[in-house]
Amino acid sequence: MKVSFLGATETVTGSKYLVETGSRKFLVDCGLYQGQKKEALMNREPLPIDACEIDAIFLTHGHLDHCGFIPKLIKDGFCGKIFATEATIEIAKIILLDSARIQESDATKYTSKNNPLSTPLYSLEDTQDSFSLFHKVELNKAFMIDDLEITYMNAGHILGASSVYLKGEKTILFSGDLGRYEDPIMYPPSDICEADYIVMESTYGSRNHSSMNPLVELEKILEDVVKNNRVLLVPSFAVARAQLFVHYLSQIFAKREDLKIPSFVSSPMTNAVTEIYKKFSSETKLSEEEFINSMSSVRFLEFSKDYSKLNKKKGPLIIVAASGMISGGRILKYLDHFGKHSNNKVLLIGYQAEGTIGYHLENDIREVSLLGHRMIVKAEIQKLENLSAHAGQDELLQWLSTNKNPKTQVILVHGEDKAQNDLKLKIEKDLSLQVSLSKEIREINF
Ligand SMILES: [Zn+2]
Repeated sequence: MKVSFLGATETVTGSKYLVETGSRKFLVDCGLYQGQKKEALMNREPLPIDACEIDAIFLTHGHLDHCGFIPKLIKDGFCGKIFATEATIEIAKIILLDSARIQESDATKYTSKNNPLSTPLYSLEDTQDSFSLFHKVELNKAFMIDDLEITYMNAGHILGASSVYLKGEKTILFSGDLGRYEDPIMYPPSDICEADYIVMESTYGSRNHSSMNPLVELEKILEDVVKNNRVLLVPSFAVARAQLFVHYLSQIFAKREDLKIPSFVSSPMTNAVTEIYKKFSSETKLSEEEFINSMSSVRFLEFSKDYSKLNKKKGPLIIVAASGMISGGRILKYLDHFGKHSNNKVLLIGYQAEGTIGYHLENDIREVSLLGHRMIVKAEIQKLENLSAHAGQDELLQWLSTNKNPKTQVILVHGEDKAQNDLKLKIEKDLSLQVSLSKEIREINF
């Protein structure tokens, strides 16, 4: 077997790993590079293999940096099966349609035909073509392709997320993105079955999450919102983060009648993903009834015209809207309206990538450009830590320590330089395993 690391070697996006057996070629994940122009151009670079030569894709989960390149691969001739859990398939469809709309809209920003970015990476049509190739798999139920045995295992992280275990003459486990051990909604990742090689994510390889309890912090924030009649704007990712935030709100509302603030989710994508969470609630720690109860503490708005109604409201008020980094979506309109007032507050609950409005606000750069004009954001900015769906350093080590094979070789992917280097040292010291960095070795043969 040969494994080549085609993406997410030095970054946290663009996950793509090529697995070649004697007769077959597979991809584990087929993700998009995300970021600025440099990453957009990286998505245009040809893969070192013809798309039509790839037999199948093993998809770990529905985040864009793991599935977002699929329509491009199909455009280039891929026509094999895409294996994923049912929840991942449903989430990936929503994510891919949204990505296609963004690709089409981004292309219109480049007027010169010579600019490669003036044509969308893929269209809505390419994306819809991918849907018929999805093939449902069940967790912990091995299936065969020729002599290769494939098993999907729970990875926590987000709904449907899995690690992928491949067994040929030797065994290799791809962690996918790993979740938290104490997530209120998701179960922790499954223990590792013995593997000769483990390809492991290292997003938080250099640090642990804060020990702060987000429930306690959020309660203080809500007290302040009520006391000062503030409007609280919460930019949120549609997948996992919004549902977790609403779940926390519901827990506070249940015990503090005085903090029951009118709360709205204004994001069609979040509505759609929340329905999927409801449908697959048996895969979470919450029953369907508990999940429905939790989500009913806020109102999910359906129509874009709703934002003009919300804009007329006064505090105390909570509005949750995508995108999580204020790089698009309805949050732009809410920020434009409510962000002008110093009495209001923007609550950042996730990672803010460089170049985004969220990043500017996080770093107290108040003059931002949005919806075709510049504005000064006067609203207070606050961060709520510890809502991440990624395992921190200790949790990554905890997961890896469930592997009982002392000869396992670990290959780190999906992390910045420092995260990979720090995690490598920590694994070597604490677990005495041999560790390589995918950016250095590029491929393994066994
Ligand atoms: Zn992910």
